Amino acid sequence: MKLYSIETGNFMLDGGAMFGVVPKQIWNKINPADENNLCTWSMRCLLVEDGDRLILIDNGIGNKQDDKFFGHYHLHGTATLDGSLAAHGFHRDDITDVFLTHLHFDHCGGSIVRNGDTLAPAFRNATYWSNEKHWEWAVSPNDREKASFLKENIIPIQQSGQLKFVAQPHHQDVGRLPLADFADDFQVRFVCGHTESMMLPQLEYKGRTIVFMADLLPSAGHIPVPYVMAYDMFPLTTLGEKKRFLAEAAEKDFILFFEHDAQRECCTLEQTEKGVRMKESVRVSEI
Ligand SMILES: [Zn+2]
Repeated sequence: MKLYSIETGNFMLDGGAMFGVVPKQIWNKINPADENNLCTWSMRCLLVEDGDRLILIDNGIGNKQDDKFFGHYHLHGTATLDGSLAAHGFHRDDITDVFLTHLHFDHCGGSIVRNGDTLAPAFRNATYWSNEKHWEWAVSPNDREKASFLKENIIPIQQSGQLKFVAQPHHQDVGRLPLADFADDFQVRFVCGHTESMMLPQLEYKGRTIVFMADLLPSAGHIPVPYVMAYDMFPLTTLGEKKRFLAEAAEKDFILFFEHDAQRECCTLEQTEKGVRMKESVRVSEI
């Protein structure tokens, strides 16, 4: 297996919304906000070369929305999905699997492109992976979350016939984080606090375990347990999921991959008297 970090560009989101109940005096030190209270976040994806499969985990915000929509998110930076794939010698037509952690627009917007009047899969040779529970949740969204689930990102995937679902393991004990097998050395954790059944890829790579954190831990600044985004549907569920995950990750020396941390691609963890904290910032190319 080989892993490549794929930058797709940065966007801006309200710092208060990103840190929930944490006061600005605290979060502003690690994520300085501009005069509109906005902070910079990356949309970093991970490319997994695994035998014959080339698996892209998430794909950024895409480019098919109108100027009004993009005006809210202040896209910036020079990285693009195609440019980052090309830097490692790949083209979007080489992708065999698009693994979608969840269907919020900043994670799956690159799935579909606009060709004139039609919406078509951006990865024409790929199978797109979601799961049944999350898909049902996303296609009939609640009023709080519906601005994040854009129909044009979601429905054309199904219409293309390229959609498949990862089987979610049945579990009696809701306190456990069950894992599903997806590919060799590639398992999936399911978490339900941010949204229904978000999927976190867990990879065995060069003797280390790497977990793609998606929106359970969007950045290293979110490692302290109460630092939960205001966007989360079920913050107390997130709190429990974070606590259990961080204890296991620190004990087993996992490497955490961050989708939204504009400074740090990955980090390791350590137990401190304040709880689990970041140990070292790491890049995928250094693992
Ligand atoms: Zn999300």
